[in-house]
Amino acid sequence: MRAMAAIGRLEPALYRIPLPTVLTDSTHGEIRAFELLTVRVRDAEGAEGVGYSYTVGRNGRAALSVLAHEISEIAAGADAERIEALWQRVWWATHYGGRGGPTVLALSALDMALWDLKARRAGLPLWRLLGGNDPRVPCYAGGIDLDLPTADLLRQTDANLAHGFRAIKMKVGRPDLADDISRVAAMRRHLGDGFPLMLDANMKWTADEAIRAARAFAPYDPLWLEEPIVPDDVAGHARVVRDGGLPVAAGENLRTLWDFRHLIASGGVTFPEPDATNCGGVTVFMKIAHLAEAFSLPVTSHGAHDVTVHLLAAVPNRSYLEAHGFGLDRYIAEPLVLHEGFAIAPERPGHGISFDWAALEAIRA
Ligand SMILES: [Mg+2]
Repeated sequence: MRAMAAIGRLEPALYRIPLPTVLTDSTHGEIRAFELLTVRVRDAEGAEGVGYSYTVGRNGRAALSVLAHEISEIAAGADAERIEALWQRVWWATHYGGRGGPTVLALSALDMALWDLKARRAGLPLWRLLGGNDPRVPCYAGGIDLDLPTADLLRQTDANLAHGFRAIKMKVGRPDLADDISRVAAMRRHLGDGFPLMLDANMKWTADEAIRAARAFAPYDPLWLEEPIVPDDVAGHARVVRDGGLPVAAGENLRTLWDFRHLIASGGVTFPEPDATNCGGVTVFMKIAHLAEAFSLPVTSHGAHDVTVHLLAAVPNRSYLEAHGFGLDRYIAEPLVLHEGFAIAPERPGHGISFDWAALEAIRA
């Protein structure tokens, strides 16, 4: 019988990552920094896996505390390769005060570290271990650009095109819908007919406002309208899909497999969009991807593109990978490779992300 890979000490840490430029969306206003939560997991033989999560500015310390004080205790000595068993144990041990929020961010980071460790021990890149569909994943640039003047928005787009992107997402949800419409019209003129363009409202509207906005955007042929309304309004999502006339992407603010089950089964989402750093980790992301497949839906992704490229490369129903504005390029050895609109999942063992721990140390929170 194979020897158990017992989990040794967990090493969690929190960093505050400054953004090179101020980013803006309809819910969070001006974003100047994000919090990065990391966890290093070592087995008794010294092999290491690394996981991470992040927040938009706040609550990282709460997630760090869950990792340091609760999950560390629950995970000590557990078999690192029985990821599902440990996931269930952490979920139920923290359920009463958890079931989402900082707890699921912490659990997501642990789960990612365990999958990284498992893949490294197997000598396989994560995308091959998880199913191995196709390492080339279509990828878009996720602009966080609501307050950019239109000329700057188009300049940013040109820089993204020059970088190799062949799909673009822009923010909508300005106080006046007419502003959104003129910006989207300018973007469509700039990109040309048929170029993949996504719109992201970051939960700005009510369902009725979203339907009105979707109908106004329809002539500009967006690939999807993202997060038109709050994640909790499942019936509203179904109305927006039915009456708005546009495909809807949603999921970055859902925190459980069951959240996705309710939204998908209601007909309220066209492109389920989980984030592996807040939905419960790689384990839950993959369940959501397979759930979407069973509903004949594509799956897209939010955030953490350096790890998520593996998850979309693993499954047949993958849609676009979001190259997120909270990139870690400055702090990792080999950032995401982009080639003619496709992100390429690497062949390095595990997720292949090597953090520059010394550089991170300087911005520890
Ligand atoms: Mg979004």
